[in-house]
Amino acid sequence: MAYRTEALFRDDAYLRTADATIVAVNDRGGIILDRTIFYATSGGQPGDTGTLERDDGSLIAVAATTTGQTKDEIIHVPQPEQAVLEVGEPIKLAVDWERRHLLMRMHTACHLLTVVCPFPITGASVSEDDSRVDFDIPDAGFTREDVTARLMELVRADHPVFVRLITDEELAANPALVKSKNVRPPAGTGKIRLVCIGENASIDSQPCGGTHVKSTGEVGEIHIGKIEKKGRENRRFRIRFGPMPPA
Ligand SMILES: [Zn+2]
Repeated sequence: MAYRTEALFRDDAYLRTADATIVAVNDRGGIILDRTIFYATSGGQPGDTGTLERDDGSLIAVAATTTGQTKDEIIHVPQPEQAVLEVGEPIKLAVDWERRHLLMRMHTACHLLTVVCPFPITGASVSEDDSRVDFDIPDAGFTREDVTARLMELVRADHPVFVRLITDEELAANPALVKSKNVRPPAGTGKIRLVCIGENASIDSQPCGGTHVKSTGEVGEIHIGKIEKKGRENRRFRIRFGPMPPA
C-alpha cells in the first residue's frame, strides 16, 4: 500500500528542522514518515539529504529522498549500515540546508531563464553548482553575455516569488502557462501549484512542485556558462553561480 506523507516543504520551503513519526520502513530500508521537510527528487530538482535524530540523540544520515509508489509517498533513503528505525518512533528531521538553499537559488534561476528565453522547454536539471535548461529553438540568437545581463536585471529587481493555487479548469483556460513541451502538470488533483514571480505574477507564472527562494534577489549573482547545440532544434543553456569568468 502507498503511504501519504505530508509535504511541509510545499507550504514553507524555508523549514530546516521538524518533528515527525516513523510510519514505515520498506523492504529496502527506505524510511517513510508522517510528515517531512525533505524534498523528493522530481521535476529536475534532486531530493534532499540531511539527518534524522532519534530520542537518544543518535543520528541517521539520509543519503537521498525519492518518491515511492505514488508522488505523495516520500522515501528517505538512509546511508548504508545504519541503525534500523522502529515504526511509531518519534524523530527530529534536519535538512542539509546549505545544499538545499543552493538548489532553491538554482531552481529559481531556471525560472528566470525561461522568462528571458520564452521558448518551449524540453528538459531541465538542477544541481548545487550547475543547472541546465533545454529549449526547443532552432537558433539561440542570443549570446551568453546578453542572457546573463537580462537574468541579472531580474535578480537585481528583487521581484517576489510566491505560490498560488489554481484549479484544473483555470489551467485549461490558460494553456500558455505550461512552458514544458513534454511534461504536463498532473490533472485531476483539484489544485495546481503555480509558481509566480513579480507583483501580481507580472514577470512569470508556471506550474511547478519544486522549492524556490522567496525573492529573485536571493538567487544572487549567476551567469550563463555555456549555450550548447543539442540537435538541430535544441539549445542547452547552462547556469552557474558567480560572475561570468573572462572569455
Ligand atoms: Zn520551479
